[in-house]
Amino acid sequence: MRMTSQRKKILDVLNQAKIPLTCDDIYLQIEDDKLNLSTVYRSLERFYVDKHVYKTIINQKQYYYIGHHHHFLVCLGCEKMIPVGCHIEGKEKAIGEPYGFQVTHHDMTLYGYCNLCQTH
Ligand SMILES: [Zn+2]
Ligand SMILES: [Zn+2]
Repeated sequence: MRMTSQRKKILDVLNQAKIPLTCDDIYLQIEDDKLNLSTVYRSLERFYVDKHVYKTIINQKQYYYIGHHHHFLVCLGCEKMIPVGCHIEGKEKAIGEPYGFQVTHHDMTLYGYCNLCQTH
């Protein structure tokens, strides 16, 4: 029972954030003395397997997000993360095929400067 409410808290944090969060971010936002970082991590990995959350790598760190598979434009100026659609979903198999490679998933983050951080 305890576990259920903790898992719900983790999903609530991700739902409210609307941006990807690291395991540490999520842990820090949950006020629960009985919750520890490894429980948060295990729950997130479980959610990932069950397709309740998605993962992406941003600045060499693992982030979790909710909703559907997509990618992010990450601003190097203000660190804003802008969600963008996936342009290679469905094409993955064809990319691996010439190499006899069976693609299972992909990860991609685009870095640069948002319209407010660009210098003219
Ligand atoms: Zn920016
Ligand atoms: Zn994608």
